[in-house]
Amino acid sequence: MTTNEALIVVDYQNGFIPEHASGVNELPVEWGELLAPVINQLMRETRTRWWLVIATRDWHPRGHMSLARNYIWKNPFDTITYNEVTNAKKHTPRLWEEAEFSLEDLQVELWAGMWPQVLWPDHCIADTPWAEYFRWLDTDLIDHHIIKWDDPKTEMYSGFFWREMRQDDTVVRVTDILRDAWVEVVKIVWLATDFCVQSTAVDAVKNGFKTMIDKRAIAWVMVKSPEDTVAYLQKLRDEKGVEYI
Ligand SMILES: [Zn+2]
Repeated sequence: MTTNEALIVVDYQNGFIPEHASGVNELPVEWGELLAPVINQLMRETRTRWWLVIATRDWHPRGHMSLARNYIWKNPFDTITYNEVTNAKKHTPRLWEEAEFSLEDLQVELWAGMWPQVLWPDHCIADTPWAEYFRWLDTDLIDHHIIKWDDPKTEMYSGFFWREMRQDDTVVRVTDILRDAWVEVVKIVWLATDFCVQSTAVDAVKNGFKTMIDKRAIAWVMVKSPEDTVAYLQKLRDEKGVEYI
């Protein structure tokens, strides 16, 4: 007897592909385009067995709290903490006008997160070409398209929260898609293993699925050396129950 599987392709979008990303205001991932044939093949294999393919997309409003552009005193890849926001409230000005969040919103978000928030360069801005799938991805092979949670006040790395939940909480959730298809095993690929892939994987475990990151088609943003990536995956396995293959 075989076990039903789903493949989740996390954020294979123009904003992360060097050919499209400017390198200044976007977030290019070196050689990212070369994984397209691998991801396509994994999707094809999944469908050959009548299993499910889900693809997520990062979808940030320009005024999103995770983008460095909205902070007057910050640069891309800086971090921000709860205490720093509390101090920043004493000084003006602090946020650019386009910001769709307040320092109070940030305090709530950072307190809930309990870790420093990375402030990213612009990437995958909603309704721009950078938020589209990279054109080498064979989108005919995708069963479900998920646009990730786009509330400007909260960071959302996980594909388990999606935009429509905000407008209509009766809408089917990713967990329901998986359960309706009797999925037991979830495999996850692409970017970034140290952020969105990890968060999506941890949520998959929390929802009761056996979860694996497939090393053949992943990329990293902060973790660079091969030894560090292996150590990171081992830690994720030991502490969060996310397997890797
Ligand atoms: Zn993002």
